[in-house]
Amino acid sequence: MIVDDTPSYCKYLQTLLERQNYQVVTAFSGEKALEIINSQKNISMVLLDYLLPNMTGYDVIRHIRKQFTSSELPIIGISGQVDQKIPALILKSGANDFIYKGFTVEEFYSRVSNVMDLLMRIQDLTNAAHKDFLTGLYNRKYFYTQANTLVSYSDDNKQKIALAMIDIDFFKKVNDLFGHQIGDDILQKVADCLQEHIRSDDILARLGGEEFCVIFSDMADDLIIERLENLRRSVEMISMESADSIVKVTISIGLKIRKSESLHDLMAAADIALYQAKESGRNRLVLAAS
Ligand code: GH3
Ligand code: MG
Ligand code: MG
Repeated sequence: MIVDDTPSYCKYLQTLLERQNYQVVTAFSGEKALEIINSQKNISMVLLDYLLPNMTGYDVIRHIRKQFTSSELPIIGISGQVDQKIPALILKSGANDFIYKGFTVEEFYSRVSNVMDLLMRIQDLTNAAHKDFLTGLYNRKYFYTQANTLVSYSDDNKQKIALAMIDIDFFKKVNDLFGHQIGDDILQKVADCLQEHIRSDDILARLGGEEFCVIFSDMADDLIIERLENLRRSVEMISMESADSIVKVTISIGLKIRKSESLHDLMAAADIALYQAKESGRNRLVLAAS
């Protein structure tokens, strides 16, 4: 997004960026810029003139920084004035970089692409920190962050949630009989299968080993059960060849549909249901008493 009160200058920067295949939106005031950022969630960088009517560039930057860090929404400040105090002020307000008007096209492209490269590297690292290396699902640590947020959101909005603990049956045997590599391949297939059965708004994570957790929000009880039963049957269909054998697995599921429990209590109740599913023969879903 380009923010500048001079339409012709906006147009000039827009042309430069579009030549590099960026998609550009423009705002002629700070107020408009903030409005766009709030309504359009896909802005990835802001180029901001510091001299604006009403709100100054600093104010706009400070407002943006209340919501987004410099790696979530980078800002490059631009100034037409040669006052040497301006760059420091803009950077101190939270801009990632600064450029004087009168830049060469090459300098402009270099600054924009440096900021974008850094942003992408940070996003890759963030992704890696949140995900489990083997399956690509969210890891245990990130699960707790997301789950706690979802539990408090559902408290505030009186929304229903349900938590399922899912564990592969006799998985140790798979490793013992067919080797760790086949075990890993099976884990990946089960994770893919889970992903296919879970909506993108629900939380799905590998809690560790061969244990997974799903949190469904705002979904009817019978639909949750139907979905988990479909998942269980789909896992039964997974098969892998190893030498002259066919490797197959099943899963057991413990489900707790929430009344008003904390995340900890939900997980504990689902765990007890999972234990009952194991004890009563595995390859089944047990719903915890409400
Ligand atoms: P149950 O039906 O009671 O759950 O039996 P189980 O054998 O699945 O349970 P147990 O907890 O005894 O064993 C889990 C096994 O999962 C032990 C470990 O070798 C295996 N495992 C855990 N993480 C991985 C992994 O990343 N890769 C592979 N290949 N195996 C793993
Ligand atoms: Mg197991
Ligand atoms: Mg286990």
